[in-house]
Amino acid sequence: MTVKLFVPKESASGEKRVAMAPAVVDRVVRLGTELSVQAGAGAGSRIPDSAFEDKGAKIVKTKASPLKSADVVLRVAPPTAADIKGMKAGSILASFVYTNRNPDVVKALAEAKVTTLAMELIPRITRAQAMDALSSQAAVAGYKAALIAASELERFLPMLTTAAGTIRPAKVLVIGAGVAGLQAIATARRLGAMVEAYDVRTAAKEQVESLGAKFVMADIKADAEGGYARELTDEEKAAQQAMLEKHIAAADAVITTAAIPGRPSPKIISKAMVESMKSGAVIVDLAAEGGGNCELSEPGSTTTAGEVTICAPLNVPSMLSEHASEMYARNLLNLMELFIKDGELTLDLEDDVIKGALLTHDGEVVNEQAKQILEGSK
Ligand code: NAD
Repeated sequence: MTVKLFVPKESASGEKRVAMAPAVVDRVVRLGTELSVQAGAGAGSRIPDSAFEDKGAKIVKTKASPLKSADVVLRVAPPTAADIKGMKAGSILASFVYTNRNPDVVKALAEAKVTTLAMELIPRITRAQAMDALSSQAAVAGYKAALIAASELERFLPMLTTAAGTIRPAKVLVIGAGVAGLQAIATARRLGAMVEAYDVRTAAKEQVESLGAKFVMADIKADAEGGYARELTDEEKAAQQAMLEKHIAAADAVITTAAIPGRPSPKIISKAMVESMKSGAVIVDLAAEGGGNCELSEPGSTTTAGEVTICAPLNVPSMLSEHASEMYARNLLNLMELFIKDGELTLDLEDDVIKGALLTHDGEVVNEQAKQILEGSK
């Protein structure tokens, strides 16, 4: 027996990543799969068809027939309605889905009797770290955010001692020190900036300091379940604003990554705070996907407010598509090792990781949070 696996070319606008990488193809095939990749699927990540083929994948010119016969479909962005209609009942889809943004996709997947493993739902537990696509892609985004800040600034990040004098290092403030924030801190530090960081979770302090950055204190402890942050009360928000004001005003670049799962991004930088910033300062708002952490951010655009540049890019991991795809493909391989053995599908619905990621199965939406979102969207 072999499990038929299909990797289509991504159809979402601006999505350059692909859910497979040549570096993992042979291990995927060794699970007992027949791997078909749609021609041109890797083009956005600069992976030619031949690179997949050389490692043992089959390149297919069209997608209708491989989609229909596939036991497992791997994607980065959610499928379209037409793609879902073209899938076999009982097949497995592993993809980012984001029910809050795509309730109709989730309904269609359930109706088509597709078993969906939503990559954003992979539990943040130690055993699932190698499958944690939220983390791999957040690390890519954090790295890129620091580079965007560096290239938008009209000054150096490092201290420079030259014959033409000494240049002082830039001050970078990172708000939200989760996976993306920590990578932004590490990258800005490597570029020689003086970095300060802030988070509402107490555990973040040690991690920030271990990267050589200074932790900006506020007496707010908003640790919540699963290592995430809870939403702040109005009093806490006011205390946070007051404390952050002077750090924002002193920064050359502010990188924001603050997020609360399933909620709009908290607005942390007000219009007045932007007005207090230095001339030439830059904000990189990585929370743009959830509306942004800065009141003036326009998701998907770079704008200016007075002398301050505000970048609010969307789908930042796609900007580094080659490595983002490779990391994502490894996450998928590690996930598939849980449910494909010796050419057989062995999906164990009681396995903690599968149970956590399971969004639709057997004609039903099975994830509780997704059910609530769908109820609310009626
Ligand atoms: P996230 O993307 O949900 O949020 C980014 C950061 O913003 C978080 O650190 C959060 O605390 C912070 N934040 C939220 N509201 C804020 C506010 N008002 N002001 C300042 N900061 C605010 O988080 P994430 O990067 O996905 O990581 C969340 C947690 O999960 C972290 O503790 C991380 O270490 C943990 N994690 C665990 C595992 C694992 O054990 N397998 C894997 C990945 C992440």
